[in-house]
Amino acid sequence: MYFDPVCKKMIPNEQTKATSTYKNKTYSFCCEECQNKFNQDPEKYIGRNWWQRFLYRLAENNAEEFGEQKPSCHD
Ligand SMILES: [Zn+2]
Repeated sequence: MYFDPVCKKMIPNEQTKATSTYKNKTYSFCCEECQNKFNQDPEKYIGRNWWQRFLYRLAENNAEEFGEQKPSCHD
């Protein structure tokens, strides 16, 4: 289970369509569109300040907990 930082959804591993590496960390995305947006401005999605980074990590850590939700990026 991954956290897509662009559409802010949890993605089952098998539904990961794209990945990007930024600052030695790999981010997974539900689609190439999300990947492209991330590549254009990674800081916008992983957080410019500590609070945003905290929220991001929180969501990441809760990936298992929210695993039942169907990921839907473009509905
Ligand atoms: Zn997405």
